[in-house]
Amino acid sequence: MSYVDEVIERVKRENPGEPEFHQAVDEVLESLRPVVDKYEARFRKDALLERLVNPERQIKFRVPWVDDKGNAHVNTGYRVQFNSAIGPYKGGIRLHPSVNLGIIKFLGFEQIFKNSLTGLPIGGGKGGSDFDPKGKSDREIMAFCQSFMTELSRYIGSDTDVPAGDIGTGAREIGYMFGQYKRICGSFEGVLTGKGLQYGGSLARTEATGYGLLYITEEMLKSHNIDISGKTAIVSGSGNVAIYAIEKAYQLGAKVLTASDSTGWVYDPDGIDVAALKEIKEVKRARLTEYKNYRPNSEYHEGRGVWQIKADIALPCATQNELDLEDAKMLVANGTIAVAEGANMPTTEEATKYLLENGVYFLPGKAANAGGVATSALEMSQNSERMSWSFEQVDKKLQDIMVTLFHNIDEAAKRYGFDGNYVVGANIAGFEKVASAMIAQGIV
Ligand code: NDP
Repeated sequence: MSYVDEVIERVKRENPGEPEFHQAVDEVLESLRPVVDKYEARFRKDALLERLVNPERQIKFRVPWVDDKGNAHVNTGYRVQFNSAIGPYKGGIRLHPSVNLGIIKFLGFEQIFKNSLTGLPIGGGKGGSDFDPKGKSDREIMAFCQSFMTELSRYIGSDTDVPAGDIGTGAREIGYMFGQYKRICGSFEGVLTGKGLQYGGSLARTEATGYGLLYITEEMLKSHNIDISGKTAIVSGSGNVAIYAIEKAYQLGAKVLTASDSTGWVYDPDGIDVAALKEIKEVKRARLTEYKNYRPNSEYHEGRGVWQIKADIALPCATQNELDLEDAKMLVANGTIAVAEGANMPTTEEATKYLLENGVYFLPGKAANAGGVATSALEMSQNSERMSWSFEQVDKKLQDIMVTLFHNIDEAAKRYGFDGNYVVGANIAGFEKVASAMIAQGIV
């Protein structure tokens, strides 16, 4: 049996009941076959792949909190410190009822390669809880965040592990967590990113993932002599990534026709109104059913369905496995040119394969949405030098990072004979740097 197959089998055996983690390992290791085959003897001797798929540390803890009626609740908190070969662990905190150890491990594993691709010195980690922030009062959110950080504070620090936001963790939650960390540790340091601008946050961090997604999509299309200006796009999600992806798409001259949330989706033939979306989601924290009040010409549908709308570019920006084989078939039938993943692993393995086989340009999340964590690393740099850069400075660095990232994955794909396959290119380019650092640092 090949080394890759052996390790995949072992991961499945030793991590039962974690399908998302299996899927992520499978997808990455499959595309690393050409590199692993080339250096198999060395990698086997160093147990490099076994070390890569085993988190350096995983922490699971109780998070008790009290609701507004005085009743106590208990959630489970996680932090998976996956790989620190190239820098302190870095990765967001997801607050969503679907969170379990397998999901956090899948996200942490992906984060290793994504962080490596940014070209910045950050290792891979991820955390979260099965706490559902929906419908909770501000006080309840604060109670949860303080309890979560009371335990997490033992394991993080500006030079060891620097968490950030993710689904369910925005500026409000980061603020409560930062306050509690400072209170417990007595230290004002850049221990979290995504902070408010008044206390160490970076300009352009809020916009970074969505903007970065469009910068890399534009660059990829340009490399195929296609201008993004004048193109139509369909977007899923209406959270942080989706909103700023839509905003930047307009700035680059494209028109976005859809948005969605966990209960339904909207189709706006005149183009999604970003200001309305921001008000509904960022200010009112309401459902997309409200969108029709702002745009009477739009349609609201329950359930999922954005991928059936004909457009040139598809940008999945909600959650994992939200674009399946049937959706991929619709995209191909509709003549979609490109799919770029704003969310983490939104496209199933079969759907990705189908898109690639049918000539759709496909940018995987670990490359396409790396602008968020890259800007988080820029926030860390600003915190270290106790300076704040202007929006334009950060945005320019983000743009440069995404353009360089695209050319690195394009080059890696070509070097191994997979021209135009950015899934292979991203995995190889991300892996090469981490693998060399792990080898240089010995068996640790
Ligand atoms: P948000 O919580 O701001 O938004 C998530 C959006 O997806 C919301 O519209 C939400 O709907 C919808 N959604 C969540 N879960 C589901 C589900 N199970 N089915 C359908 N829709 C769902 O998160 P972000 O925008 O920050 O993150 C979106 C994705 O991007 C995630 O995969 C995240 O890991 C990834 N990502 C985020 C980065 C960032 O900087 N924020 C960086 C890199 C990746 P509703 O409004 O109903 O909750």
